[in-house]
Amino acid sequence: MLYEIRFKCPCPNIGCRNRNKLRNWTHSGCNGELYINKYGMINCKKCGDGCHVYDSKFKCSDEENFGESRTTIIIQACANIDHWDDGDDEKTEFWQELLIQLCEERRNREKDNNNNNFRKSLYLID
Ligand SMILES: [Zn+2]
Ligand SMILES: [Zn+2]
Repeated sequence: MLYEIRFKCPCPNIGCRNRNKLRNWTHSGCNGELYINKYGMINCKKCGDGCHVYDSKFKCSDEENFGESRTTIIIQACANIDHWDDGDDEKTEFWQELLIQLCEERRNREKDNNNNNFRKSLYLID
């Protein structure tokens, strides 16, 4: 089982003009490549910074500013990757496991009333 994978998905921002384009996300602060593990944690390979994908702020090249997203849109964005990827079995397994974890985390956060005060964000650009 893969531990982590280069993080790519369509832009999950509300109202993004191009929801069907696969994007390779990098860390806005240092331009480092971002990886995601099967628990949904994003990690920057250059500076070592990290946060959960739900706490990430996205800005794709079709946008002027960092936008707003929703957990459901992020799940949808990640659900489509397998479709675009090369069909590698290990990757397929990874994305399926990640989706299960993302749904679980969404439920946990709903119970938690989406309390975001203690969470840290990473700023992602493509
Ligand atoms: Zn966008
Ligand atoms: Zn970084």
